[in-house]
Amino acid sequence: MGYLKQRNPFENALKQFDKAAKVLKLSKNQIAVVKEPRRVTEVNLPIRMDNGSIQVFKAFRVQHSIARGPAKGGIRYHPQVHVDEVKALAFWMTYKCAVVNVPFGGGKGGIVVDPAKLSPAELERLSRRYFAEMSDLFGPDKDIPAPDVNTNSQVMCWMFDTYSMQHKEHIPGVITGKPLGIGGSAGREVATALGMFHCVVEAYRIMNKNLEGASVAIQGFGNAGSNAAKFLSDAGAKVVAISDISGAYYNPDGINVNTALSTCAQNKRWSLQGLEKQLQVEKLKDPMKLLELDVDILIPAALEDQITEENAANVQARLIAECANGPITVEADAILDKKGVRVIPDILCNAGGVTVSYLEWVQNRMGYYWAEERVNEDLKRFMVTAFQQVWQTSEQYKVNLRIAAFILSIRRVTEAAELRGLYA
Ligand code: GLU
Repeated sequence: MGYLKQRNPFENALKQFDKAAKVLKLSKNQIAVVKEPRRVTEVNLPIRMDNGSIQVFKAFRVQHSIARGPAKGGIRYHPQVHVDEVKALAFWMTYKCAVVNVPFGGGKGGIVVDPAKLSPAELERLSRRYFAEMSDLFGPDKDIPAPDVNTNSQVMCWMFDTYSMQHKEHIPGVITGKPLGIGGSAGREVATALGMFHCVVEAYRIMNKNLEGASVAIQGFGNAGSNAAKFLSDAGAKVVAISDISGAYYNPDGINVNTALSTCAQNKRWSLQGLEKQLQVEKLKDPMKLLELDVDILIPAALEDQITEENAANVQARLIAECANGPITVEADAILDKKGVRVIPDILCNAGGVTVSYLEWVQNRMGYYWAEERVNEDLKRFMVTAFQQVWQTSEQYKVNLRIAAFILSIRRVTEAAELRGLYA
């Protein structure tokens, strides 16, 4: 899927920042304290493999900002994880948390590894060693990780256990996205997609459009993409294309999302492999063409830098809802703007995940757990409020929704940084 393609997502993130900073007329001093990451940590993790050999894995944790609260953000496992990517993802977390107004800063972690090549026991040892090695950085009031690409609730659980055993205390608030059976929150698993869904519903309401029958293409079928397909099809939208590393599958009359989900569940690893045998779908020769299909709504839900200056002009969707972090480059944004394609930006659109992470952290600290209805009600309120504030900002400053989301969030982060001042 063109992962990174020699592009630098951190440079892309900084260009997004600069655009909003210009509108806000931020001073040099203001920019100096909120733009670059506060701390970048790199470690090498030696792991005993099942065959007795030792393999060393490079890993990172970036804390971009702690101005509004402890650093917050997921941990990604991927063979092409790069420090500049992790810096970009940490940067986006700072502003994502500020857009939805949860009291966190921004952070992100990553391990350079293809988890498909590890046994479950190797994966556990790697996850525990990562957390043990970085444990001085983490803490419920310091830095709180969560799942991201290729990590899940089991991985979070190993990390929580490692930290708690090291500290000889039960400390569930050190990490979010844990399993329901051990300190997780109802609703966390589907929160990213549900948050996106609230954004799309709001956008359609404001634009006076009907979601029923609207056609949707989704790139990526992991946690965000697969749940996005479910929420949208349950609401009457027509999911016409889906994809993952096995390929892109298309049927203009609609794809049965439940069949796609059961295909993934039946495969040894979660994958759409073989979907063309289960359903009437065309497997696209070039999976990137999914992004250029004639659809009402396009949902990039995979990785960064997917819509670039190379393919943006061919995008036919009327609305793009970014479930992934950083799927559209700054250059592509400009092309989409000219074409009149509306983009609900990542730092708003996929903020449902971190919003329910916040609710999980609150529940962990209270030791009292809410029913799913309560969590979902709060999530909806956070998302709809944020969406409306971003929309109003975009009208007020006559800028697109991404710049508006940055204006809103940079203002919140700089305000906190200024109120606090410098401690020495
Ligand atoms: N990895 C998710 C994101 O990119 C969730 C982060 C969190 O819950 O802290 O927003």
